[in-house]
Formats: sequence, structure tokens, C-alpha cells
Amino acid sequence: MKNSREAIISSELVKKIMHSLGADMCGIASIDRFDDAPKGYHPTDVFPLCKSVISFGCRFPVGTILCDSPVPYTRVRNSITPKMDAMALDFCIEMEKYGVMCVPIPTNESQWDENTHRWRSVISQKHAAQAAGLGRIGRHTLLITPEFGSMIWLGAVLCSMELEADEMKDEICTNCDLCVKSCPVNALEQAEIKQQVCWDHAFGDDEMTKAWRISCHKCRDICPYNLGSQNSFILTTDKTSTSTGGE
Ligand code: SF4
Ligand code: SF4
Repeated sequence: MKNSREAIISSELVKKIMHSLGADMCGIASIDRFDDAPKGYHPTDVFPLCKSVISFGCRFPVGTILCDSPVPYTRVRNSITPKMDAMALDFCIEMEKYGVMCVPIPTNESQWDENTHRWRSVISQKHAAQAAGLGRIGRHTLLITPEFGSMIWLGAVLCSMELEADEMKDEICTNCDLCVKSCPVNALEQAEIKQQVCWDHAFGDDEMTKAWRISCHKCRDICPYNLGSQNSFILTTDKTSTSTGGE
């Protein structure tokens, strides 16, 4: 049952609050869109009162995928995740002022799933964003948004209130397989990414500098939809074909 303060919260106001906290994108998914979530990873497995999932995105600077050094991409990724965790937390506190309970989901934290022998976020950020109409998951397993392509980082909040859901986007990925062929370790050859193979190659201490780096994001770089329609940058073929460093 809604209390009197809940009555004044609308989907529009939710997005306005999220944008005021710094989000570049925000969408809302109804709980029925998570029916296929694995056991233990459904929003109500985390927060039994959840009736809507609010997904938000922050832009990731395009220049980072053109750098010859993996340092800027790694630094942005390591900076954007605590920033977005703080945004999700602030959002939840703000919603409580309206009498609505919300729960923040970590932006970049996974736990071992003994059933699938994979690391999983307690709620898949990409699936939440797809369900909330921000974009579609491509063959490279990244979310592609019409506006900013895959140059977006994702966060989510579980909400106790039933909010008006956004329409889901149509498919964007054309299955051109460019990302599959670009992967140096064939991590994308099957429908499900070989998570450990990708991580072993892309993440870890740099042999020369001994510093932890993200050293591969070729699948992101090569996708024709990597920048979306609102980035006006043209990535040159020679750069994207030699780029190293990202997730
Ligand atoms: S990040 Fe690199 S290793 Fe991982 S799937 Fe993409 S291309 Fe392959
Ligand atoms: S490179 Fe092609 S197959 Fe891969 S995600 Fe982009 S459109 Fe889909």
C-alpha cells in the first residue's frame, strides 16, 4: 500500500533526481522483466520488497579507448565505479525523503556462483539496463545504447515502489562478429563469454610496470556501434585495430 508521500513520486521525478546526481542516462524496469533471472540473482532475492529496478549510466570518455597506454582507461574505470556507488547511495537516501525505500546495487562487485562456476554481480547491471530500456546487450556482452554506444558505465537501484516502466529498446547488435574475431583469446566464440579466459587476458599486473591494468578492450573498440549516435567522434581504423587496454 502506498503511503501519502509515495503518491507524489513519479517515474519522471525519479529520473530527474538521478540526473541531478550526475547520471547521463536513467531508465526503469518493472519487476516482471526479471522472470528469467537465475535463482538467487532476482531483484526480490536481494530485496523482497522490490517492485521496480532503476538503472542508470554514466558516460565513459571516448578518448580512453584510443590511448596507446592502458593507464587512462584503467584509471577512469577505477574512478567511475566508486563515484556511481556514491550516486546510488545518495539516490536511496533522497528517495527515503519521499517515503520510498530503495537499495543500491554495487556498480562493480561480483561473487562466486557455485552453480555456474562464474563470478556474478548480485544483480546483472547489463540485464537491468536492458530491462530498463537503456539499450541492448550485444554479442560482445556489453550494453550498447543508441545515444552513447557502449561508452557508458552502469549502476542500479532496487525500488519498493511500482513505477511506470520504460519501453525496451529494439536489438542494436547486427551479429557482424567483428568483436568475436577481434578477441585475441577467443573468449567470445561461444554465445556465453569465457569469463575467466577474458579476465586472465584483460586484467592483471603489467609485466613491465608491475602495475594492475586493464589491458584489453578490443571487442568494445571494434564494434560499429561503440560510440552511439550522440558522440560525434570518428575512430580511425588504424587506431581501433591496434588499441589495447579495457573491459
Ligand atoms: S576484453 Fe579482450 S579478452 Fe575480453 S572478450 Fe573483449 S577482446 Fe576478448
Ligand atoms: S561488433 Fe558486431 S557482433 Fe559484436 S556487438 Fe558489435 S554489432 Fe554485435
